[in-house]
Amino acid sequence: MKGFRYLKNVATLKLDSDVCIGCGMCMNVCPHRVFRIDAKKAEIADKDACMECGACAINCPVKALSVTPGVGCASYILQTWVKKDKAACGCGGAECC
Ligand code: SF4
Ligand code: SF4
Repeated sequence: MKGFRYLKNVATLKLDSDVCIGCGMCMNVCPHRVFRIDAKKAEIADKDACMECGACAINCPVKALSVTPGVGCASYILQTWVKKDKAACGCGGAECC
């Protein structure tokens, strides 16, 4: 999935830096290199690359991450990969479908 880009500024991913303990698990599980660790804290380095799969939030040991998985166009893309045909997310966006 190299080069994947989500629509700009719509990903629901949120990071609570005050809670983060810098364990690096989010970096390990994220398929799109959304995170980096700086000064023993995670940072969101590329939010628009997030496909809202939810892996980081599920694996964060202190619940510093939240994301609403599988909504909108991310859901559409996943459905299309799985079904190998066209699925409708219904967003009607100009850059979608
Ligand atoms: S998994 Fe959670 S605690 Fe660990 S670095 Fe990422 S945000 Fe911080
Ligand atoms: S939801 Fe998935 S793609 Fe987005 S930052 Fe978390 S692990 Fe990466």
